Amino acid sequence: ERQETISVQACIEYALRLFHSRLRDDGIEVVQQWPEETLWVEGDLVRLEQVLVNLISNALQAMKEVASPMLTLSVEIAQQQVMISVADNGPGVPESHLGQIFEPFFTTKAPGSGLGLGLSISSRIMEDLSGKLQVANQPTGGARFIITLPCSTTPN
Ligand code: ADP
Ligand code: MG
Repeated sequence: ERQETISVQACIEYALRLFHSRLRDDGIEVVQQWPEETLWVEGDLVRLEQVLVNLISNALQAMKEVASPMLTLSVEIAQQQVMISVADNGPGVPESHLGQIFEPFFTTKAPGSGLGLGLSISSRIMEDLSGKLQVANQPTGGARFIITLPCSTTPN
């Protein structure tokens, strides 16, 4: 496994780029909120990107029926921890499912459209990166997934 110092913002940009045509075709408004200074974390760029891709993919699926779909990606830093949040304005996660969605094979999707592995794999990856993955519904509706990672000192 690769260990490198990576820019959080660049990692998000890479993940978003994969969804470029889909975001455009589905008319999804993308809101990006992060500090101008580059935030660095230690880890394997590809694995963090994989987590972001899983979260963005879930968000897009959750907004299928939304009239004005909006994907919000934000980054904050507090107490040497970087928090990356992926939020949507879909229906959110029902209260009764909050304790289950990180379990392997838990899915509410139709057979064939979801294996229920994305979040369990993602939280495993985050643990391997000394971080964590959490969920919270937003007061305005919609789900918000939060990645927390220890911040690294700026290279060079
Ligand atoms: P899958 O996408 O294959 O169903 P995941 O592990 O990625 O598996 O997600 C598990 C379940 O968590 C989903 O089936 C869905 O019920 C819920 N979920 C995940 N992301 C969201 C979201 N952004 N909004 C609402 N529910 C979500
Ligand atoms: Mg998924």
